[in-house]
Amino acid sequence: MIKRKNKGDLIVISGPSGCGKDTICYKLFEIRENLVKSISLTTRTKRDYEIDGKDYYFVSEEEFQNKIKNGDLLEYAIVHQKDYYGTPKDKIFDILKQGKDVILIIDIQGALKVKEKYPEAIFIFILPPSISELKKRLIKRNTDNKEALVRRFKSIYKEINEINKYNYVVVNDNLDDAVYKTNAIIESQKLRVDRIEEFDLDSIEEEIHEALIDL
Ligand code: 5GP
Repeated sequence: MIKRKNKGDLIVISGPSGCGKDTICYKLFEIRENLVKSISLTTRTKRDYEIDGKDYYFVSEEEFQNKIKNGDLLEYAIVHQKDYYGTPKDKIFDILKQGKDVILIIDIQGALKVKEKYPEAIFIFILPPSISELKKRLIKRNTDNKEALVRRFKSIYKEINEINKYNYVVVNDNLDDAVYKTNAIIESQKLRVDRIEEFDLDSIEEEIHEALIDL
C-alpha cells in the first residue's frame, strides 16, 4: 500500500563529555542494522585504549589544516578550547543515498554547522542526570588531568544553554532507557509522512469498494 523512500538519516548526537553519548551509540550499533558511525579527525593526543581509524583518525595540526583548505570536512571546531575535531565529508552522502543511517557524535559548534548545511538531519542532545553525577563519571573515567576537567566543565554551561537548537533531548539516567528512547527517535523518522514515495490510492479505493460489497 505504501512505499517509503530508501533514504538514510543523518543523526547528530551531542552532549557534555561523560554524559554517556558514546556508550548509547555503541549500543545502537548492536541493535540497529544499517547504522554507520562517522569517524572524526582530531589533533588530540590518542588515549591508550583508543584505536586510530576506529575511534578517531589522529592527525597533526598541519594535516588537519590541509583538510580544511581542501574542503574535505563537513564541519570542524576547536573543542574545549584546545584541539581540532572535524567530520570528513567524503563518504557520508553516498552512505545516506544507500539508505543507511550515519551518526555524528560531535559538539554543539559542529552540530550547528551541520544544521546550516543539512537541516533535515536529526539533532539529539544527551544530558546527564545531574552535574554532580557527571563529575563522578568524569573522575571515575580518569582520562583527563585537572586542567582538562576544568576546560570540560567550562564548556558544559554554554552547550546546555543552546539545547533548544536540537530536536530532541534524552536524559541518560538509565542506559537501557536512554538507548530505547534514542532508538525510538531514529525509528520514528522512518515513519514520517514525507518519507512516503508512493501511496497506491487506486488500490485502496478498490479494496474499500470490495469491502463494501459483502458488508
Ligand atoms: P573527546 O576528546 O572526549 O574524545 O571528545 C571531546 C568532544 O569532541 C566530544 O564531546 C565530541 O562531541 C566532540 N567531537 C568529536 N568529534 C567531533 C567532530 O568531528 N566535530 C566536532 N565539532 N566535535 C567533535
